[in-house]
Amino acid sequence: MINERVRLISSIRKMQLFKKYKDKTKCWWCGSRNLSREHKYKKTDLELLYGKDYTINKKISKIAFRTERKGKFLQSSSSTHAKFRRCLCIDCNGRKSQNADKAYQKLIEYYYDNQIKLIKDGEISLRSIFSNEWEEGIRNVHRYIAKHIGCRIAELGFLPSKNLIDFLNGNPTCEDLKIVLQIKPYQFGEIENPIECIFLGPFIPVNCSPNKNKDVITSFLGWYTFVNFSWNYLHEPGIGKSNMTKEIIKLDIIDFKDSEVLEISLKEETFERDWALGLEKIEYYPFLGNNRDLDLYDYIKNYV
Ligand SMILES: [Zn+2]
Repeated sequence: MINERVRLISSIRKMQLFKKYKDKTKCWWCGSRNLSREHKYKKTDLELLYGKDYTINKKISKIAFRTERKGKFLQSSSSTHAKFRRCLCIDCNGRKSQNADKAYQKLIEYYYDNQIKLIKDGEISLRSIFSNEWEEGIRNVHRYIAKHIGCRIAELGFLPSKNLIDFLNGNPTCEDLKIVLQIKPYQFGEIENPIECIFLGPFIPVNCSPNKNKDVITSFLGWYTFVNFSWNYLHEPGIGKSNMTKEIIKLDIIDFKDSEVLEISLKEETFERDWALGLEKIEYYPFLGNNRDLDLYDYIKNYV
């Protein structure tokens, strides 16, 4: 009996792949205490679509920034609602991640200028964005996403894996991260007029081990969408070396054609709520059943 319990406890420990983020006064990346707030919605993404200032007459409706059911008005691209809680230090948020931020911004700007072409091609050429430095370019895009994941994990009270932090510190590969790029071409009317919103998807902890203890988490996944362009991510120890070695990246283009998911009825009195729920469905599509989180997990994990 005692041996059984010891065995169970040690197997739980082995599966406790993500450490708890105990001291919230420390940066999750480097341990420094000089904390700042990283943007949840990338500042350059917000400014590309809406400019800097959304006060009074230029107030951006919260529906553009719905994060599941908790939408907030943003006053400007620097609004605290657009940021994570303090969990990353000034140096990690600034100097150390500058190249990652810039590479991500380059990718987004390229996408924004070439949306129709990319939907038709179903692929993206990294050389067109980063020229001969495309390998370092995509590595840095992944580092930006890794930084975003680190902040989301910290908000849930955990720390990312050491392997992910080593990658942020300059290691060329990351075995614990998989990213799938997708385009979800939903619009009302013509394809040239997409709905220009940013959608911060949910951040989902998953337990894929046979041990169903509620404290066991084996993986974190989620996504972020900038005007129909989604980056899905899976942070799981050993998930793979990620797709950083190909110059041409396949884009998974979602086909909404025969789906009723785009038929959203928007009533005037409940407009924002209707739209938020409708948008959430569209963003989750085609995973709409009770197991949608695990279906999404399987999709990212098995995507080639
Ligand atoms: Zn730091």
